[in-house]
Amino acid sequence: MRKLAAGNWKMNGVAASLAEVKALLAAHPAPACDMLLCPPATLVAQMAAAAKGSALQVGGQDCHPKASGAHTGDISAQMLADAGAGSVILGHSERRADHGESDALVRAKAQAAWAAGLVAVICVGETETQRDAGQTLAVVGAQLAGSVPDGATAANTVIAYEPVWAIGTGRTPTLAEIAEVHGFLRAELSGRFPTEAAGVRLLYGGSVKPSNAAEIFAVADVDGALVGGASLKAADFGAIVAAL
Ligand code: PEP
Repeated sequence: MRKLAAGNWKMNGVAASLAEVKALLAAHPAPACDMLLCPPATLVAQMAAAAKGSALQVGGQDCHPKASGAHTGDISAQMLADAGAGSVILGHSERRADHGESDALVRAKAQAAWAAGLVAVICVGETETQRDAGQTLAVVGAQLAGSVPDGATAANTVIAYEPVWAIGTGRTPTLAEIAEVHGFLRAELSGRFPTEAAGVRLLYGGSVKPSNAAEIFAVADVDGALVGGASLKAADFGAIVAAL
């Protein structure tokens, strides 16, 4: 399968930041993997315009489960699609923590994303306390079961394993720990979506940077990365793209 380098700009970036996109595309006009950047919603349309005709896909960072209505400050999947997005990150641990998002809500958002023609990039991951307590597989298994709707396919769904304690900390699990979780996620998907699971891309996320990308990408069942901080600079993200 074609691997995926996905970047999450989080609440970073203004119009001037699109210079990084131009630099990325100039340096990597025909990458060997798929490239996706998810800027703040305010930049989706501008980034999509800048990426038009290039190898870069653009995505949102969240969407509301409803298509429209009285939900001040929220953005629907249709709006993201209309602005030029092809994907949306859902259930990121910062959304789960900051906004109390449940698995059921993430599942509803994924259904809304599919209805709008977007790929749902669904995030799962354990906290440090849960890992220390030996609960990692139980936690990510429950998140996967609860957050991924029936009807997931290799084309409409990407799963990102992001240990909460590895996000923005510079710490990463061992390669064996990543392999264990990714193998478990593949097996869980196979049980539920037997014909699709082998093609669903499983991204690792959490402190991926140019210096560790190649070794992480060599791990079995790692089909790409979801990158936070290192996606903001073209040089860093480009180096990760080149490692895939
Ligand atoms: C993320 O938040 O999706 C992430 C992986 O962040 P970072 O790469 O900065 O750890």
